[in-house]
Amino acid sequence: MPRITVLDDATINQIAAGEVIERPSAVVKELVENSVDAGATVITVEIKEGGISFIRITDNGSGIEESDMPYVFLRHSTSKIRNADDLLRIKSLGFRGEALSSIAAISQVELVTKTAESFTGIRYLIDGGVEKGTENIGCPSGTTFIIRNLFFNTPARRKFLKSPQTEAGYIQDFMERIAISHPEISFKFIISGQIKLHTSGNNNQRDVIYHIYGRDITSHLVSVKSEEDSFSMSGFIAKPAISRGNRNYENYFINGRFVRNPIIYKAIEEAFKPYIMLHRYPFTALMLTVDTELIDVNVHPAKLEVRFKNGEELFQFIYKSLKNTLEGRDLITEVYLTK
Ligand code: ADP
Ligand code: MG
Repeated sequence: MPRITVLDDATINQIAAGEVIERPSAVVKELVENSVDAGATVITVEIKEGGISFIRITDNGSGIEESDMPYVFLRHSTSKIRNADDLLRIKSLGFRGEALSSIAAISQVELVTKTAESFTGIRYLIDGGVEKGTENIGCPSGTTFIIRNLFFNTPARRKFLKSPQTEAGYIQDFMERIAISHPEISFKFIISGQIKLHTSGNNNQRDVIYHIYGRDITSHLVSVKSEEDSFSMSGFIAKPAISRGNRNYENYFINGRFVRNPIIYKAIEEAFKPYIMLHRYPFTALMLTVDTELIDVNVHPAKLEVRFKNGEELFQFIYKSLKNTLEGRDLITEVYLTK
C-alpha cells in the first residue's frame, strides 16, 4: 500500500468542484444566486456555446470590497453566515462559500467589481485556481463575472457535457425559474447575441409568466394565497385544463429557492388529482415560505434538495390550500368560457 498523504489544496478544490459544478447551468445558477444575494435589481446573463466556452453575468448589486478580494475565491469563505447556528436562519441563497472557489478551480475567471462607495473598481483574473493578475479600473458599481473554458483542466468532466444546445436549454430553464421566483428583478438572458428572455422587474409575477409561457397559460391562471403558523404560500396555478405530460411546469420555490422535493410534488399532484388525467401534471408557480428553523437547506452542495422537520404538516398545508383554491372555482365553465 502507498503511504497516506493529504491532498494539496488545488486537488481538493478540483474534487470538491465536481459536486457543486456539474455543468454550465450550475455556474449560471451559482453566479446569478450570488447576484440576487448582493441585492441586484438588474441581472444580465450572456452565454456562448451552451456556456462551455463563455458565460458572462453582470449585476448592479453591492459589489465586492477591495479588502474582501483575498477571500472571494477561497473555499468555505462567505459573507453570509458566521457559524453553524446561522444555518438555522438562512435567508440568502448562498451560504456554503464554495461556488466561487469551485468555479475558479475548473475554468478561467475574470471578475470586475466595484462598490457604490469606492471610486475605482477592481479587475481580477484567476485561471484554474491560480491568480493571474489584479488591477484597479474604472467601471460601474456592481459585479461582472466572465467564465471561460469551463472544465478546461478536467477533461473527464468536459466529456460528459451534452451538446451546446442542450446545455443552453438547461441554462434557459434555470433563467426562467429564477425570473418567476424574483419578479422584482429584471433578468436578461442572451445566447450568442440573441435575447432569449427579458423581464421588466416590475414585481408582477403574472407578467413574467406571460413573458415565458405565453397567453394560453396566463389566461388560465388562478392566484393562490394561503397562510398558517409556520407556512405561507402565494403565486399561481393554472386551471387543470392546462396540463402537461411531464413535471416541467410544476414550479415551486421555498424561501425564494428553486428546489425539488417529493413531499411538495405529492401535495400538488394530490390536490389536482380529481381534475386531471393520470400521467398529466399541472402548471404551478408557487412561492412557499417556511420558517427557516423547520427547513434544512444544507443537504447537498448544489442546494437543490431540502429536508423538512415537519414534512407531514407542510404536505397538509399545500394540499389543503390548493384543494380549497380549486374547489372554490367553477373550473369547467370557466375553461370553456375562456376558450
Ligand atoms: P456564498 O454565496 O455561499 O457565500 P460564493 O463562493 O458563491 O459563496 O461567494 C463568496 C462570497 O463572494 C459571497 O459570500 C459574497 O460576499 C461575494 N460575492 C460573490 N458574488 C458576488 C456578487 N455578484 N456581488 C457581491 N458579492 C459577491
Ligand atoms: Mg454563492
